[in-house]
Amino acid sequence: VDDLDLLEHADEGEEGIRTLPALPVIAIVGRPNVGKSALVNRILGRREAVVEDTPGVTRDRVSYKGEWLDRRFTLVDTGGWEPDARGIDASVAAQAEVAIELCDVVLFVVDATVGATATDEHVVRLLRKTRKPVFLVANKVDDARQEPEAAALWNLGLGEPYPVSALHGRGVADLLDEVFRVLPLVSAVAKEEFGGPRRVAILGRPNVGKSSLLNKAAREERVVVNDLAGTTRDPVDEQIELGGRVWRFVDTAGIRRRVHLQQGADFYASLRTQAALEKAEVAVVLLDVSQPISEQDVRIIDLVLESGRALVLAYNKWDLLDDDRRRYLEREIEQDLHHVAWAPRVNISAKTGRHLEKLVPALEAALESWDTRIPTGKFNAFLTELVQAHPHPLRGGKQPRILFGTQAATRPPTFVLFTTGFLDAGYRRFIQRRLREIYGFVGSPIVLNMRVRE
Ligand code: GDP
Repeated sequence: VDDLDLLEHADEGEEGIRTLPALPVIAIVGRPNVGKSALVNRILGRREAVVEDTPGVTRDRVSYKGEWLDRRFTLVDTGGWEPDARGIDASVAAQAEVAIELCDVVLFVVDATVGATATDEHVVRLLRKTRKPVFLVANKVDDARQEPEAAALWNLGLGEPYPVSALHGRGVADLLDEVFRVLPLVSAVAKEEFGGPRRVAILGRPNVGKSSLLNKAAREERVVVNDLAGTTRDPVDEQIELGGRVWRFVDTAGIRRRVHLQQGADFYASLRTQAALEKAEVAVVLLDVSQPISEQDVRIIDLVLESGRALVLAYNKWDLLDDDRRRYLEREIEQDLHHVAWAPRVNISAKTGRHLEKLVPALEAALESWDTRIPTGKFNAFLTELVQAHPHPLRGGKQPRILFGTQAATRPPTFVLFTTGFLDAGYRRFIQRRLREIYGFVGSPIVLNMRVRE
């Protein structure tokens, strides 16, 4: 973290996750050619917008760090897409919708010399619904003669238009003064997690070997004392070096402190599981191969899925496995854990230490999937190909169409599809399967949301 200001505000939350308040986010929304890039450059004080996001997203949402009179912020540019077969309205509106959700303040840019187009109207409808501050930016007002054209945009119902010339700088300072009047100091929507070690929850029903695994890992490897300056040691977590890298095992106190409850043990176990998941990024669910896979095992796995965390399955007590049991085990896995066949599997023995080293690549793969972002262009190419090969079945003579899609978030990868009708559950599962076939997503849940357009 290169940012001392933010570090000062670093916060150890109730769950012991240190988050940095993220910079406030300004989104720039508008159809192509209204001058969004010029405005971005003007606001950033650069000649040419430098892409600082991960490569491959230049045609997607691009975010920049900016500074204006000592106030720092993140600027998200939603521009760069061009009309495609699905139509410009759908893609601009869809992108705008996602951007609005992810920002604190919206700058909606309209070309004053053209006036509001039908595409603009699409976005206006979305903007009227949001409670976030929206600034209507009337661009290309290069001199006072165009001011009346800007004023005409009052009729969009978005309040006062701000006449600017992104190219020449005219009016931009006045606009930004107003923007910073309402922009919060830290984002209300974005949150940055403190770098630090990645956080792992060890889960499983009683006696599957959680504390044995922890002990083995902690004994064979170095338990790292958390002595980072300015951080308080969280006694309920342990930092353990595995595979040359430090991991933070969360809520290990909950594992070591064995609470034997007669009644409601299940209930408390599930609460503990949920609490650990809150803090974790990835869960290792232990299964005892000497026992049949139980409902409780499945319930714990389902809690991981609900939490949206990455998942690794560790089949423990492998030393107890004989050929007979092994055959049953594989059948049980096929039957009961089919829905998480995408999770990396490691066969370990916490007792003998067998294959414990295989946990690390499994964790790394799962976290990498969890962090994956597919650029919008690629994702839409994927959707087009998928729909061409396998169109959605007709329903009552109608066929819901997918207009546009975008990945709205990572951790876990979350996709939004804009459609003309409700997609069948089967078809949504098919999309998920195809996503996994093409992109892997080993060890990560995938969330697929839909927005149905009338
Ligand atoms: P926890 O409740 O999940 O923390 O389970 P524990 O770590 O306390 O283990 C429960 C029991 O299983 C203990 O008697 C352990 O010695 C035993 N155990 C744990 N892992 C293994 C393993 O890999 N092989 C065998 N044979 N026993 C194990």
